[in-house]
Amino acid sequence: MRRREFLKWSAGAGMLALFQAAGIGCTDRGAPPIDLPDLPYPADSLEPYISERTLAFHHGRHHRGYVEKTVRLAAAENRFAAARLEEIVKSSSGSLFNAAAQAWNHQFYWQSMAPGGGGTPSGPLLAKIRSRFDSYDRFVEAAVAAAADLFGSGWLWLIDAPDGPKLLTTSNAGTPITAGIRPLLVVDLWEHAYYLDYQDRRGDYVRTVFTHLINWDYAEENWSRSTPG
Ligand code: MN
Repeated sequence: MRRREFLKWSAGAGMLALFQAAGIGCTDRGAPPIDLPDLPYPADSLEPYISERTLAFHHGRHHRGYVEKTVRLAAAENRFAAARLEEIVKSSSGSLFNAAAQAWNHQFYWQSMAPGGGGTPSGPLLAKIRSRFDSYDRFVEAAVAAAADLFGSGWLWLIDAPDGPKLLTTSNAGTPITAGIRPLLVVDLWEHAYYLDYQDRRGDYVRTVFTHLINWDYAEENWSRSTPG
């Protein structure tokens, strides 16, 4: 390294250390910045079940909007300056809660699906589902019925209850993490999730997700984390 370059470099490093000592910038404060995560797969890879057009709008507009609103509203409250998204969801209310919970729910939703997903789980969850719902097909029909019963917008969750896996719906931005429950899977029931591809046929969308897209590997991972031993 030439001397002039070294001086430039060390001056830069010195400034960075000063900024960090002053608490400017967020890289040294423990929490990663809240940002729009990339989709875990290409936007066209859930075709033909969920179109690229739906995913592009859903991720690029809806999810991005919730993330940007979270960042903007959290910046106005000192206690959230270094908070992780999950912490904001658990301890906020009103508009900030709605934006943060929607941001959290969406990143969980993207991971709840995968190209080539669907069908039955390959791990120990299958036995649990069969013992609770009699068969996998009945489980899917119970999911479709629960989705149809939810009036308005919300989310369909599979959670790990003490007596086995259980279906649960939440309205609007509702999320089970506020009740200390770590979900296994989620399906977005807002119309923006399916209207371009399925119009008003919410049941067809939910059945298709469970048949062709649901990411059981992710559910098994979440299940082993939420179950001691
Ligand atoms: Mn959505």
